[in-house]
Amino acid sequence: MKGNKKYYPADSLKSPRFCDVRTFMRLPNVKTTEDVDFAVIGIPFDTACSFRTGSRFGPAAIRDMSVTIRPYNINLGINAFDYLSGVDYGDIPVIPGYIEDTYEQIENELKPILDAGIISICLGGDHSITLGELRAIAKKYGPVALVHFDSHLDTIDSYFGKKYNHGTPFKRAWEEGLIDTSHSIQVGIRGNLYSPDDINDSVDLGFKVITANEVHKLGIEEVGRQIRERVGDKLAFFTFDIDFVDPAYAPGTGTIEVGGFTSYETLALIRETKGIQFIGFDIVEVLPAFDPNQITAFLAANVAFEFISMIALHKSKNASYLKR
Ligand code: MN
Ligand code: MN
Repeated sequence: MKGNKKYYPADSLKSPRFCDVRTFMRLPNVKTTEDVDFAVIGIPFDTACSFRTGSRFGPAAIRDMSVTIRPYNINLGINAFDYLSGVDYGDIPVIPGYIEDTYEQIENELKPILDAGIISICLGGDHSITLGELRAIAKKYGPVALVHFDSHLDTIDSYFGKKYNHGTPFKRAWEEGLIDTSHSIQVGIRGNLYSPDDINDSVDLGFKVITANEVHKLGIEEVGRQIRERVGDKLAFFTFDIDFVDPAYAPGTGTIEVGGFTSYETLALIRETKGIQFIGFDIVEVLPAFDPNQITAFLAANVAFEFISMIALHKSKNASYLKR
């Protein structure tokens, strides 16, 4: 880090966590790329949904519940802010209804952040936003490995005759050469498909696919091992669709699927990816209007907390990490 400024959350032992304007984890809301290791960024775009809309309010809902998070991660044994400086960068100004213009906005806004070597943690928004993020990421890092937790594949060729939709981002990312599918993996697939070809199409693009049923059979540790083995030493991007989680634990989302994972299983499986060199993350599809008890937003905030803790863990063990 240049200089000696560090950004870290307000201390909730000193001022109540319900005070002040809500930012992610009570981090300073500063639009700076100086002295920052990671930035939390909202991308409130939700007009590429195939069913329920409303995830434009996801970033605000996640921030709202994230103020309850304490800095020490008991499972990873680390306080991220012993190693990291982080900010809530605010939101990217999306253009509702105009996905291709919004992709340009996402790319332009992320560029200075990524160029400064900062790790981005974006809060959606629907899953279409990830294509914009991957365009920016690939420009900086080249094609990356994708770790994709979702109940859906999101590799459909087109929806309603259109190329850009929250069901198509990873087909586009493959076409545009943004991801290295030979090191990429899709985990948690379930529900019902349009046809058996849906999974075959993903496999044909080069993805490894682990269905929810296979996760339940293999167990968390074995699936974690397979994810780490698949990614290997490649730089990776983690995209987390909240509908990976069972709707009993995450009802607030747009396209729910039954037979998913508990919040415990979800967080445990995320932690199994520690050691992978992630250079970006996102959490998408949180839809507050269907989340009356805020449990979905609370879980999403905790997923982001695991991501931040893993960045810190990786930095604590790898001197070159965050210096690229
Ligand atoms: Mn998705
Ligand atoms: Mn999904």
